Amino acid sequence: MVSNTARKIIRCKAAVAWEAGKPLVIEEVEVAPPQANEVRIKILFTSLCHTDVYFWEAKGQTPVFPRILGHEAGGIVESVGEGVTDLKPGDHVLPVFTGECKECQHCKSEESNMCDLLRINTDRGVMIGDGKSRFSIKGKPIYHFVGTSTFSEYTVVHVGQVAKINPAAPLEKVCVLSCGISTGLGATLNVAKPTKGSSVAIFGLGAVGLAAAEGARLAGASRIIGVDLNSKRFTEAKKFGVTEFVNPKDYDKPVQEVIAELTNGGVDRSVECTGSLGAMISAFECVHDGWGVAVLVGVPNKDDAFKTHPINLLNEKTLKGTFFGNYKPRSDLPSVVEMYMNKELELEKFITHEVPFSEINKAFEYMLTGESLRCIIRMPA
Ligand code: NAD
Ligand code: ZN
Repeated sequence: MVSNTARKIIRCKAAVAWEAGKPLVIEEVEVAPPQANEVRIKILFTSLCHTDVYFWEAKGQTPVFPRILGHEAGGIVESVGEGVTDLKPGDHVLPVFTGECKECQHCKSEESNMCDLLRINTDRGVMIGDGKSRFSIKGKPIYHFVGTSTFSEYTVVHVGQVAKINPAAPLEKVCVLSCGISTGLGATLNVAKPTKGSSVAIFGLGAVGLAAAEGARLAGASRIIGVDLNSKRFTEAKKFGVTEFVNPKDYDKPVQEVIAELTNGGVDRSVECTGSLGAMISAFECVHDGWGVAVLVGVPNKDDAFKTHPINLLNEKTLKGTFFGNYKPRSDLPSVVEMYMNKELELEKFITHEVPFSEINKAFEYMLTGESLRCIIRMPA
């Protein structure tokens, strides 16, 4: 059954990025009805992740403008399109930048979350169903971002990119699980898999890296070495179980050598959460030979190329990467929300700032100055 509102255009406020690096402008947009296999969501809370900032700056990424950014959010389903059977108006949901169609070889594999149909595509600004945008201003299309575009009071998302969660979960907290925190947590718990008593280096102590540190703490790692160029991050990181700190700027040799000296040859696991190519290489080279595993999480620039001597691989160092911490968004995210509900996972310490939607550009400033971990953007009531 498709509800009546599912056929209506909604006029609402959205923050539009008209040009790279220019402040977002709150505009009145028209949000078209959800088409087949799509849902329209009323966004209540959204937060800013560094990936939004990269695509807004578009320095190392394909520029797609005008665009509505945003991909960490919590909301309530307003209406559903044809063929949507497992979501209904009123469901509490988290939209996710990567999807799970539940039918392709990846979705059927226990090892992969790289859905063939709904895998992240940062260059696409339209819906996959019909190649069109659901947002417009006076008839001019405004592009989507990673299928979520949550910097809008209403957005249209493919059903495969929507996780239905416990309605008792506070959306102003669990919205951060939509991307960054789950990514960091899963990168450690699902991919790096440190054992009890092991050593783990975390490169980049933003929200993603601190979530990776939280994963290391939950796994029982005994040494968690935080690496960041911003020493201000070290105070905060103590709350997340980071036991030691290394600022690469304090040394005149590569940070991988510093870490090898600190750990008798290298760490057991490392997780890179910076997006910096140099940090990715260091994160790989700082793991112990024989068994060390490095996991890359940061989003690289478009033209980056990873360079290391192949002997590192022959010496049995393993290099891995992950999207969304290897979680399948629809199947696994509800249980990450439950980790918060059961008080295993604390989200409050990640949320350092909050602004009303009208001040969304402040969230960008906080992130660019390195002041915030996560800034929650509260949508109008
Ligand atoms: P953030 O900006 O809050 O944190 C990044 C931190 O890395 C900062 O503290 C910065 O000082 C530090 N840093 C930068 N260059 C460094 C270097 N060379 N050495 C050491 N530290 C360095 O960002 P965030 O929101 O925590 O996101 C981290 C990364 O994860 C970003 O690249 C983001 O795009 C990416 N990300 C990836 C996925 C995925 O699924 N793979 C999902 C979400 C975010
Ligand atoms: Zn799939």
